[in-house]
Amino acid sequence: MTLAGGQAKKVAIVGAGICGSITAWYAVRQGFEVHVFEPDANKSSCSYTAAGMLAPMAELESANDHIHQLGLESIVLWSSIIDALDEPVFHKDNGTLVVSHRQDEGAFNQFVNCLKTKLGDHFSESCLLMDQQNLEPELKELGRSLYLKNEAQVDAQQALFALHSDLKKQSNWHQKQVMNLQAGKVNGEDFDWVFDCRGLAAKGEIKGLHGVRGEVITVQAPQVNIQRMVRVMHPRYRIYIVPRENHCYMIGATEIQSADVGPISVRSTLELLSAAFSVHPGFAEARILKLDCNARPTTLDHQPFIEHEAGLSRINGLYRHGYLLAPSVVAKAFAQLGLDVTSDLKQNSSMEYRDHEHCI
Ligand SMILES: Cc1cc2nc3c(=O)[nH]c(=O)nc-3n(C[C@H](O)[C@H](O)[C@H](O)COP(=O)(O)OP(=O)(O)OC[C@H]3O[C@@H](n4cnc5c(N)ncnc54)[C@H](O)[C@@H]3O)c2cc1C
Repeated sequence: MTLAGGQAKKVAIVGAGICGSITAWYAVRQGFEVHVFEPDANKSSCSYTAAGMLAPMAELESANDHIHQLGLESIVLWSSIIDALDEPVFHKDNGTLVVSHRQDEGAFNQFVNCLKTKLGDHFSESCLLMDQQNLEPELKELGRSLYLKNEAQVDAQQALFALHSDLKKQSNWHQKQVMNLQAGKVNGEDFDWVFDCRGLAAKGEIKGLHGVRGEVITVQAPQVNIQRMVRVMHPRYRIYIVPRENHCYMIGATEIQSADVGPISVRSTLELLSAAFSVHPGFAEARILKLDCNARPTTLDHQPFIEHEAGLSRINGLYRHGYLLAPSVVAKAFAQLGLDVTSDLKQNSSMEYRDHEHCI
């Protein structure tokens, strides 16, 4: 099965969350006639809720080597993708600081041991264990910390806006819900190939695809000056604080086995905000800008899903890793169809791809 060769193909991308947007963006660069179908005018898709962390190390606690490798590859790709977009996207690659309160050092040590086991010899290359850290002066009171050097973040909302803005200029953008999706056909119109990137809406067609609820809070905290992503280790939950522009911080995220996308609960709000306040008292006077919730499209084994048949590819199951994985997973899907869509992006990237293969 191939998409390569021959005259420019007419392709349809159904769904323009981060998965469909990257798929469409790669397809445009291949010179295809691209049609994007996306009905969401309210910015309510899961991709708008994400914190945009590109955290292949921190995620290793619960993810496997496959996710880790794909994540490292995506970080390199993101830096070139952002450079190529017309609109600016806030992007930082200054790593993650993992911290804990002294009474929670057990949870912290467990996390460190997990990474040491999974990364083996690569641990000291990518992580720095510190008794007293100086990277974030305002968090000095906390106990030992672990610096994950190679992690990055993108502003998810800005990245989607920039991708959509390029796609609206370079492809045929249909603000429409697709009611009928088949191999080579969308709403009755013929295409050479169709990419189904509908996230959770494709659950009827992908066995086991289900939603995992996540809640996140955005605050503006003028009294807090944190430059890096921070992960707080706690025996019951892991919470992250992601710094954005203008003293804004995203505090997240819960993980609840439910596809309910109703408003955030009081319990989650209290836990997320208390955790942030316990790390830095400056969060007490923060203003709450947004309380958000969505359901992550998740497969039974929590791995990304790629499936092809003649005229149709399905890419899905990005779970809690849509931004971490989309550039590399979508590239993998194209490679399976005979197209290398990223070699120039890798060459032009200001970041080096470090292959940590077989580290687990
Ligand atoms: C609280 C929270 C925090 C997160 N933080 C991170 C993070 O820090 N880093 C990270 O990598 N990931 C994160 N994620 C995960 C990430 O958001 C998801 O993995 C990602 O959004 C999935 O993208 P998607 O494009 O597959 O699905 P979606 O974003 O759901 O997009 C699917 C699109 O398909 C469209 N669609 C559906 N049906 C149709 C139809 N019939 N016709 C046309 N279009 C249709 C929808 O409107 C939607 O726009 C987070 C998720 C949550 C909930």
